[in-house]
Amino acid sequence: MYSWYTVQTIVDSMTSEGLSLPNPARFTATDEQIRDAVAEAELPALLVALAHATGDITLIRDELRPPMPLAPAALPAQGGMSEAQQSLARRDAVEAIIRFRDAGAESVPLPDTARLTELMAFIARDAGPEYLPFLLHELDLPPGIGAPSWSKQDVAPDRDFVVGIIGAGMSGLAAAYRLRQAGIPFTIFEKNEDVGGTWFENSYPGCRLDTNNFAYSYSFVQKMDWPHQFSTRDAILGYFRDVADETGLRDSVQFGTEVTEARFDDATDSWTLRHRGPDGTESVTRVNAIISAVGQLNRPNFPAIPGRDRFAGESWHTAQWRHDVELEGMRVAVIGTGASAFQVVPSIAEKVERLDIFQRNPPWMYPTPNYHDENSAGLLWLFEVVPFYHRWYRFFQFWSSVEGRRRFAAVDPEWSTPGSVSADNETMRRALTAYLQDQFSDRPDLAAKVIPTYPPAAKRMLRDNGVWAEALKRPHVNLITDGIAEITETGVRTVDGRLHEVDVIIYGTGFTASDFLTPMTVVGAAGRDLHEYWQGNSQAYLGITIPGFPNLFCLYGPNTNLVVNGSIILFSELAVDYVLECIHSLLTQGYSALDLRQDAYEEYNRVIDEANALTAWGASDVSSWYKNALGRVSQNWPLPLLDYWTRTRDLDTDAYQFRTSTAALGVAEDQLARP
Ligand code: NAP
Repeated sequence: MYSWYTVQTIVDSMTSEGLSLPNPARFTATDEQIRDAVAEAELPALLVALAHATGDITLIRDELRPPMPLAPAALPAQGGMSEAQQSLARRDAVEAIIRFRDAGAESVPLPDTARLTELMAFIARDAGPEYLPFLLHELDLPPGIGAPSWSKQDVAPDRDFVVGIIGAGMSGLAAAYRLRQAGIPFTIFEKNEDVGGTWFENSYPGCRLDTNNFAYSYSFVQKMDWPHQFSTRDAILGYFRDVADETGLRDSVQFGTEVTEARFDDATDSWTLRHRGPDGTESVTRVNAIISAVGQLNRPNFPAIPGRDRFAGESWHTAQWRHDVELEGMRVAVIGTGASAFQVVPSIAEKVERLDIFQRNPPWMYPTPNYHDENSAGLLWLFEVVPFYHRWYRFFQFWSSVEGRRRFAAVDPEWSTPGSVSADNETMRRALTAYLQDQFSDRPDLAAKVIPTYPPAAKRMLRDNGVWAEALKRPHVNLITDGIAEITETGVRTVDGRLHEVDVIIYGTGFTASDFLTPMTVVGAAGRDLHEYWQGNSQAYLGITIPGFPNLFCLYGPNTNLVVNGSIILFSELAVDYVLECIHSLLTQGYSALDLRQDAYEEYNRVIDEANALTAWGASDVSSWYKNALGRVSQNWPLPLLDYWTRTRDLDTDAYQFRTSTAALGVAEDQLARP
């Protein structure tokens, strides 16, 4: 139906001069084909992209501006544009594309900052000027805007400085990408046989993203041909593999190599990493800094249910899926109804003989009718032929999931209605309850079990397109809400004394998320052991640095998980920027290491704790992986995204003590030259 450009799908062909279209002559779509494609377009981003490509600013006139209303459940289609706006927008878009085609569809210049601001405001109308650099970073315009502005070759060519990155998942690859841009040598140690981290490890049936994929991707490697809005596990893993291959980062990874210990040497201000290779051989590597990119959600949590080891059938955790066991015709128990189990259940319900789901707390879910849908051919075609459309589309997805939604999770201290934490949160609760009541209107027995009593956003909210209700309503599927008393040789016994006999038990019981950097041994300056220091209460400054652990930088560390605003990829990118700032400071100021001050750590975490207490996840006492065993919210970021952006732009030198080891610097004390 459409004529296609042949373009690189991962990295588009943009330079700092603009985007040159690879083969304009092939843009031969007829007017009718263009009209058909535009009928499938997301209009707000398309109008911006066309205004950008053609310079016709009337395409983003006020009359067409999407209202982008703040919705408790999901943003209305087309940013809430009215029918009249949409038909006008479609007409204008079709005409603009035809003009663009007839003019030869040649290269598109990059607009200046003033024009970019104008383009952004069409979508992010409420963003003040303070957001501009942040949003440009997220758009990656001009291309490479997030790259370090310096290189080691320029600032410290003679200094030895090597980084060890632990983990080649999403955060580790982001760190490697930026370190390479700065010319800092590094090695990545990865315990698995491939990149991708959690997306490599989780391969359970139904595994897929539940955040929009255009926003869940690196700003510096934007992809235009995602097959779905919410990618399958294979597609997102494929993206990380492609990034590693196409950027050459794969060559810097030691696969099958698990770091077991990191030990700081006070004399040389360096770290020794002890690691076990694929053949079991232990070896050590000396580095100047460590970037821990080990993730939060990859150490399976098996619940301490009595008798767990007695079960005679097969059992496994969702993150360690047994593809060798055929579930067809089996009696299966699934324990847990969190994000993983929520995707597993609809995927296996049809094939098993009986499915018993053990639920402690039901999840809240966002109605998402297009959750499993493929992207239409027309939309994908437009991403290829309209320059920058996929970038603006990604930006649209990003912006519609940021700051505004925080207000639905914010606590009003005066609010006393049970089940919600504020009037906005109550509005959300009602909207989501109505959705569940509608889904289960024909099964009041189930409706009574699936409607949560805790406030929305107190636990992770899930995406639903109706398949959960469909699975639960099957005659051979049982939703069991009685507590589990024990596991026996033949099944699961609930507290009412009933034994649910099964052949297989699947643990969808989550991860030991708050046990950061386990099971590694980490020993910092003066012999300080990290886990003894934390005493089960992991904290870090900006989620990155910890006092007594010089030059140890964490990514996706404590309090960097997001609940209602933004994507964790963005968060890791910003943390990487900060780490680069730290390294830049060491290289340019002639220091060998920086160590966070205790008072900065305490003050920072005081602010974070106070802010978390004013969120639904902090105020509610419902169980969740957002809190550690002591009840502190150790996972989540409670403030606006802009705060994290601002705090990670420059190194706040007052928060640190700087160390000088002449051994590390390779110079005598009197030769140390500092500005
Ligand atoms: P989870 O959200 O922590 O859910 C664990 C489930 O196990 C909960 O339902 C929990 O009940 C239940 N459970 C734990 N211990 C139990 C016990 N002793 N007895 C009975 N039930 C027990 O874990 P998850 O589903 O693996 O998801 C973890 C996180 O990974 C998600 O929140 C998300 O951030 C990420 N994830 C993302 C995706 C995606 O993007 N598509 C998919 C999967 C996971 P309670 O609720 O009562 O505690």
